[in-house]
Amino acid sequence: MMEDLVNKELQLCSICNIEFVKDRYDKNEKCEDCKDIDLCMECEEEHPTISMVENDYGDLICEECAEPKCRFCNDPVEADMQFCSKSCVDGYKWDNYREKC
Ligand SMILES: [Zn+2]
Ligand SMILES: [Zn+2]
Ligand SMILES: [Zn+2]
Repeated sequence: MMEDLVNKELQLCSICNIEFVKDRYDKNEKCEDCKDIDLCMECEEEHPTISMVENDYGDLICEECAEPKCRFCNDPVEADMQFCSKSCVDGYKWDNYREKC
């Protein structure tokens, strides 16, 4: 009979935006095709969940976005560096200086 459908509902997949049927109490927001995929909160592209990491805010981001980047121009930098060059240090300082004014 139809009884099985009572506890089912349509859910819009959070990744591909296609509707799929899930159990009403299931918190899953991803369809079968997307269950191993997540959206990177930074580049907003799809990546396998297994390769993603959490940033300081608890958001899932891809490996690429998790790599250290220059705080001014977003170029990749060595792990312990915040800026790729002296001019970016100056640029960053200048930006902060302007914000304070
Ligand atoms: Zn999907
Ligand atoms: Zn990313
Ligand atoms: Zn830079």
